[in-house]
Amino acid sequence: MRVYIKEENEKAILFNALTNEKIAEFKDVSEAVKFAIENHYELPVRDFKGDFVTDKEGNFVYIDEKGFFELADGTLLEGVKQCPNCGWIAYGEEVCDEDNQPRECFVCPKCGNIFECTPPPDELPAED
Ligand SMILES: [Zn+2]
Repeated sequence: MRVYIKEENEKAILFNALTNEKIAEFKDVSEAVKFAIENHYELPVRDFKGDFVTDKEGNFVYIDEKGFFELADGTLLEGVKQCPNCGWIAYGEEVCDEDNQPRECFVCPKCGNIFECTPPPDELPAED
């Protein structure tokens, strides 16, 4: 079962990620994490600092057994990759390099890291 943890009124509350039902309350996040692990609940992906990763809309992000990122309901997040700098999810975006040439890169919304750029195919019809 997929779960997430929300901090509220100095408590950490564990929720069912699909139904948003409250499962239990804890005095801090580490206790909630411990409980989730003991019960074999699936927690969202965490970045290198230990923060739970969310997508751009604020939905928690999970990782499936094949290593793909998806939302609690199984919606696959396409064109994303874990940022090697901070562990957040980076999105495939078009970025202009120093010569003003557009490139496909992964851009991390958390730390601003831009990585794994590929030049666009040469054969693209020029838009005018
Ligand atoms: Zn990052």
